[in-house]
Amino acid sequence: MIGFQYVRANDVADALRLISADPAAKFVAGGTNLLDLMKEDVERPSRLVDISRLPLKTVEETAEGGLRIGALVPNSDLAYHPVVTRRYPMLGSAILAGASAQLRNMASTGGNLLQRTRCPYFYDTVTPCNKREPGSGCSAIGGHNRMNAILGASEACIAVHPSDMCVALAALDATVHVAGPNGTRAIAFADFHRLPGDTPQHEANLQRNEIIVAVEVPAEGFAKNYTYLKIRDRLSYAFALVSVAAALELDGGKIRQARLALGGVAHKPWRDTSAEGALIGQAPGQSTFARAADIVLHGAKGFEHNAFKVDLAHRAIVRALSQAAAGRPQSQSNKTIQ
Ligand SMILES: Cc1cc2nc3c(=O)[nH]c(=O)nc-3n(C[C@H](O)[C@H](O)[C@H](O)COP(=O)(O)OP(=O)(O)OC[C@H]3O[C@@H](n4cnc5c(N)ncnc54)[C@H](O)[C@@H]3O)c2cc1C
Ligand code: SF4
Repeated sequence: MIGFQYVRANDVADALRLISADPAAKFVAGGTNLLDLMKEDVERPSRLVDISRLPLKTVEETAEGGLRIGALVPNSDLAYHPVVTRRYPMLGSAILAGASAQLRNMASTGGNLLQRTRCPYFYDTVTPCNKREPGSGCSAIGGHNRMNAILGASEACIAVHPSDMCVALAALDATVHVAGPNGTRAIAFADFHRLPGDTPQHEANLQRNEIIVAVEVPAEGFAKNYTYLKIRDRLSYAFALVSVAAALELDGGKIRQARLALGGVAHKPWRDTSAEGALIGQAPGQSTFARAADIVLHGAKGFEHNAFKVDLAHRAIVRALSQAAAGRPQSQSNKTIQ
């Protein structure tokens, strides 16, 4: 473990002052990702600014009918919050598909958005990794890439974003609220995470001296017809090979609104609005859902050990949309996909 300083912020202004004072400082919230990365010598902050006691732990309904979730609301509290279980069950389902109960008790909403990839080479400091050490190369492209990306990857990096919660937030069209030295700003969820391009070390469109203060979801929660389907190597305590957040609004036998986002396939939660558009106005059914999956996976490209994910994702999309349409939201990730 490296040596570092530790300071605790009293309020958001104090946190911003402390982070700005030291270019090698980092915020720590639940610490479930950052401390592991420090132990592995992947992250080497000179100072940890502890934000875990800031007053950002409330979940509040907004005047517009949405929900504003403080950045420090623990994942468990959010998943079991009565408004989430009643109005946004896809969000709760996605959170509960991730990690373990103990981790979810510690993990914060903001930290979940900024958790880093689980690409094994990122953690292995003796192998080249452009994300860990820009310009050193990508060991995953010709190496063990079972968990890596099939969409939106670059020649510099084929890592995926590992969050489950973020896939549901992408489908729900969330907004991220941040504060920085120049005031506050709101970032559409689709613009928050980045594709790797030639700068895979930057995962989010957030400055290092900005803090996430809240995440907001709009009024429509798709509580009736939704699914979060997570396919993984073990039923619990494993990251997604592929996950799908699917939500529909049905009206008179037709799809009136559709949301579709994938996890485990790209450097960011992968929402596809063209596939959503192709579902609107159609009758729900296998052929309609297969066409949407074709659109999502049009540019998909597998590597030596993960090419199976293209077909897996296709089947998972069809299945998640079918479950959503039937009002059977439960994840059945431990069973064979039909
Ligand atoms: C064994 C294991 C299994 C896991 N399985 C899953 C899984 O299946 N699915 C899943 O989705 N997740 C999984 N996780 C990841 C877990 O969800 C994340 O570690 C957690 O959400 C991170 O939140 P945290 O508050 O602990 O973040 P921290 O570790 O405290 O911080 C993570 C990063 O976010 C930054 N940060 C934190 N809060 C803020 C803020 N408000 N503003 C700006 N920057 C901030 C920190 O500086 C740091 O860079 C797993 C983790 C472990 C250890
Ligand atoms: S995929 Fe990205 S994180 Fe993994 S080795 Fe390549 S550059 Fe590093």
